[in-house]
Amino acid sequence: MSFVTKFGSRSIWLTVMTLITTTTVGSAKFPAQHMISWKNASVTTLSAQDRYSLRDVETTKKVAALTFDISWGTVMPPKVLALLKKNHVAATIFVSGPWAKEHTQIVKGYAQAGAEIESHGWAHVNYSQLSNRRIVDNLMKTNNVIQEITGTKPTFVRPPNGDFNSRSILAARSVGYTTVTWGTDSLDWMNPGVSTIVQRVTKRIHPGDIVLMHASDTCKQTDIALPAILQSLKEKGYQLVTLKQLLTYGKPIYRG
Ligand SMILES: [Zn+2]
Repeated sequence: MSFVTKFGSRSIWLTVMTLITTTTVGSAKFPAQHMISWKNASVTTLSAQDRYSLRDVETTKKVAALTFDISWGTVMPPKVLALLKKNHVAATIFVSGPWAKEHTQIVKGYAQAGAEIESHGWAHVNYSQLSNRRIVDNLMKTNNVIQEITGTKPTFVRPPNGDFNSRSILAARSVGYTTVTWGTDSLDWMNPGVSTIVQRVTKRIHPGDIVLMHASDTCKQTDIALPAILQSLKEKGYQLVTLKQLLTYGKPIYRG
């Protein structure tokens, strides 16, 4: 896919070119001129993919991606991995750089089980509050850790706290990342009770859905809820695939 098609509008293309040509990975520079050119790009000219995160895929097929953010712990991550293996489910995990660096064997275990390993950035902070340079630095630090472990460059970032703005989306894209949030939030991060988590997912699931779950130790009910979720989705006729696989089923949907 050419960049021109991807970005759609010439003004955005020029802005992104500015972003790319002034970016040095590792010691990214975003001169004042770039910020001015960004401000000049009227919001009304921005396409959905420049404003919003990826949330679903347009398809009528009963296919969905289960995704797990991991930023902390040694108990829940292997538990979720074991359940995915037992049920032969290929999921997508978004790992924080510092956690992945400390737990390379767990990350490898996920990759060997067919999981897609993507980025949850480095610091768990809101990207709308970070400068472009800081966003790129956060992404590249984690990028290097993941690539060292899996040998594959991640291409999706789940921004910490699901926070983003159009500026952070373009900054992430300048280093090859699509910002992805979710179509369905399981709310497992709130520890709301197993039945709430199961109900949330099984009632809201839809074709092309991206489901947010967590496998950090702070989430205490995910491993209890997951088997029931997998069973229910199976009964509903859903096929669970990774994010990259999901995108082969239809057009990506970027929405607020
Ligand atoms: Zn997180």
